[in-house]
Amino acid sequence: MRPSSREVLCAAAVAALTLAATIQVPAEAVVPEPPKVATARGSGGAVTSVDPYATQIGLDVLKAGGNATDAAVATAAALGVTEPYSAGVGGGGFFVHYDASTGAVETIDGRETAPMGMPEDAFVNPATGQPYSFSDQVSSGVSVGVPGTLATWQRALDRWGTDTLASTLRPAADLAREGFVVDQTFHQQTADNQSRFSQFTSTRDLFLPGGAPPPVGSTFRNPDLADTYELIAAQGPAVFYRGELAPEIVETVQDPPTTPDATLPAPPGYMVRSDLRGYRTLDRAPTHSGYRGYDVYGMRSSSSGGTTVGEALNIMERYDLASMSDQDALHRYLEAGALSFADRGRYFGDERFVDVPVADLLSDTYAAERACQIKPNRAMKKPAAAGSVLNYDGKCSTPNAATTRDGGTEGLSTTNLTVTDRWGDVVEYTLTIEQTGGSGMVVPDRGFLLNNELTDFTTTVFPVPESDPNRPEPGKRPRSSMSPTILLKDGQPFLALGSPGGSTIITTVLQMLFNRIDRGMTIDQAMAAPRSSPRNNTPVTSEPAFIAAYGKLLKPYGHEFASTPEIGAATAIEFGPGGLLTAVAEPTRRGGGSAAVVAPAP
Ligand code: GLU
Repeated sequence: MRPSSREVLCAAAVAALTLAATIQVPAEAVVPEPPKVATARGSGGAVTSVDPYATQIGLDVLKAGGNATDAAVATAAALGVTEPYSAGVGGGGFFVHYDASTGAVETIDGRETAPMGMPEDAFVNPATGQPYSFSDQVSSGVSVGVPGTLATWQRALDRWGTDTLASTLRPAADLAREGFVVDQTFHQQTADNQSRFSQFTSTRDLFLPGGAPPPVGSTFRNPDLADTYELIAAQGPAVFYRGELAPEIVETVQDPPTTPDATLPAPPGYMVRSDLRGYRTLDRAPTHSGYRGYDVYGMRSSSSGGTTVGEALNIMERYDLASMSDQDALHRYLEAGALSFADRGRYFGDERFVDVPVADLLSDTYAAERACQIKPNRAMKKPAAAGSVLNYDGKCSTPNAATTRDGGTEGLSTTNLTVTDRWGDVVEYTLTIEQTGGSGMVVPDRGFLLNNELTDFTTTVFPVPESDPNRPEPGKRPRSSMSPTILLKDGQPFLALGSPGGSTIITTVLQMLFNRIDRGMTIDQAMAAPRSSPRNNTPVTSEPAFIAAYGKLLKPYGHEFASTPEIGAATAIEFGPGGLLTAVAEPTRRGGGSAAVVAPAP
């Protein structure tokens, strides 16, 4: 139980918040929403994210002389305010950096980690001996991984930044305190989560003021988060990992703050203070592969993004897609996606626990062998089998490995940002708390949600076979799909891009590259174009506009599609001749994003 002074404080905060978020304040009286621009062209640096406040904050940092890393951290911290259901200090992510002064692409793995004391049957309901249903796992303490986001921000600033963590947090803290105007997306995401949010006292009090989602056009303030950011600014990330915040995070995980009438089982988790104390980001070399003269750098373990995008590109590179009909080129995109997902399911897990054959998966010879499965005008039966990485020669002579089915239980949440500065440094950063709303649990009085990232492990069968590279293990990082990607041409940046969307992240990045490089689209067209997400299953989840445009064309080849309203909410920056930057955000998905450049082109 919390001390009663805390309860009193909490009650006061709830009352203040309830007032703040239910009174309709005219937008002009608070920080008005900056304009949303989907495509911005110019020079001197650029920022693009899903949110206009966050983009503006990043742009201000660049204009004040900060570099790409400074701006990326400030933008991410702001997304923790305005996109709290997708990102924040309670989550994790992957940060990819291009250093213009050295030409190096390097990455930080800031993935959440399983507690050291997590037992093998952590996700099993003791009452039934069976795993909890996936939806019950999602809203729980057991799904919470040790968060990596704050450590990522500090590590990125230490390696590449010029600013302190304290000053990069300041604009976001101010935004949390002053408030932002609730848009349709925030309102809808809250409404979609209302039933589970209402079952956790801390979450209900923060995000359902007066018992309902904040209305569109109202002002949403999060003074608890402002205080948390200021506490971190004053004391550094140590306050989160070993100081005042640590026992509160642990308590939330071990004793989920459910309401007395909660119906969720909300199984408790196993995180203890030494897990937080022991958390480390990992500096990692990126994955590297080539695609039609571009050097493609992606995220390696614990994300499957780099190897899966890279393998699919290598397979697609076998064909002259640019000179093919839509029907034939899309057929190969769909099949390449399926084949690379088959290998992802079979081979990919945290590289510290599993021997991931990265070099094989990214080898052109292996891609040639995999491409043997693609028939010119007939879709493979799905799920396609994984390839054999032990013995291949690119000559269609190697038998496949066993068929794998990919759970694909990641949510469709997450957020992504792309930044470049006047020196030419580039940051591509994807961060998440897993599902929209994460575990559903706000750390009481601290204003941020905890992730449910451990559900990215294989958690819905028990026992999980030893052969599953993604089985839960203490200290392991669950397999991710996040795919922050940077392409260089002759050592210079050509394109940086990334997306949210669970396992569809991989195909969104892949399809945007296909659209841009092979299908003759500009980067803004490549982003706006309708998406289809081939992940080795059938029917292939696709946007309605994709099905309308290509469904009939691809049916004779045996492709079947299932409609979903939208896939991904990507961001990208393209680097043109003469320093011309084209920063792009979504024109419509997730309500439209926001791109900005330091010096707009006339
Ligand atoms: N947990 C997912 C991953 O790491 C991201 C969450 C999502 O996009 O829904 O790939």
